[in-house]
Amino acid sequence: MAKPEISIEFFPPQTSEGDEKLRATRDKLARLKPAFFSVTYGAGGSTRERTFATVKDIAAQGFEAAPHLSCIGSTRAGIREILADYTAAGIRRIVALRGDLPSGVGDPGEFRYANELVEFIRAETGDRFRIEVAAYPEWHPQARSPQDDLQAFKRKVDAGANSAITQYFYNAEAYLHYVDAVRAMGLDTPIVPGIMPIVSFYKLARFSDACGAEIPRWMRRKFESYGDDTESIRAFGLDVVTALCERLLANGAPGLHFYSMNQSGLTTAICERLKLV
Ligand code: FAD
Repeated sequence: MAKPEISIEFFPPQTSEGDEKLRATRDKLARLKPAFFSVTYGAGGSTRERTFATVKDIAAQGFEAAPHLSCIGSTRAGIREILADYTAAGIRRIVALRGDLPSGVGDPGEFRYANELVEFIRAETGDRFRIEVAAYPEWHPQARSPQDDLQAFKRKVDAGANSAITQYFYNAEAYLHYVDAVRAMGLDTPIVPGIMPIVSFYKLARFSDACGAEIPRWMRRKFESYGDDTESIRAFGLDVVTALCERLLANGAPGLHFYSMNQSGLTTAICERLKLV
């Protein structure tokens, strides 16, 4: 079996101190030999400069860097400019997303859905970029139905996406069912599970409600029983997420994409347990 490909996601820091910390984190995570580090893009382009600076910094150290790029609220001219910057910086991979309009912003701009962004990137830059798109094993919260969401995914692939990274989840069945459903549509697109290591249960619970990821009841109850005992939360989270990764890889997941939250500890510990280091 081919060695699973690891990728690791960062968000762009807001301060120069954060930049320094991220460099140290990145250098520790380099041991895992990730295929690429990706860098998120704030809603409506709010981190445009910082995402670009972080991506350039990663690439300058010889690592493959993949900027996320969201299109909602953007113009074609604006996206064209960003693509030109990334081309000039030697970037070869982009995570293409719709994004969400920041609250209070009414103008959706010139793109409605991520497939339109993928189509635009291909029309403007041909095969220069490897394009990753988002996939939702527990379905995107705004999808009218699972069938509609699968069709939306297919449109992104038909528009030229090469592979997908999923929203995080803790139900392995959801991922396995999603992959089967995509294969049943005749697509062989690699679908890499997004893995969220668990640092703080309460933060995770709030975030999961917002993005539509389920924390199964048996896990929630156990986390809640630990109260403020951060050591037990960390240990249980590590066991659960490692077991999830093992199951996904054993069932054919082509790799793992870690939502690192700019920390190296848990991602490294999980990969060590999986013997991926
Ligand atoms: P789309 O694929 O366009 O789908 C959005 C919704 O529209 C879905 O419900 C879909 O079913 C529906 N839909 C699609 N096409 C149609 C159509 N023609 N008619 C009707 N409905 C349709 N957000 C950020 O702001 N910055 C980031 O850096 C970022 N990184 C992410 C990385 C990953 C791996 C993932 C999984 C998500 C990320 N997100 C990020 C969040 C993402 O932007 C949101 O989940 C957003 O709401 C949807 O983006 P999308 O690209 O999946 O949209």
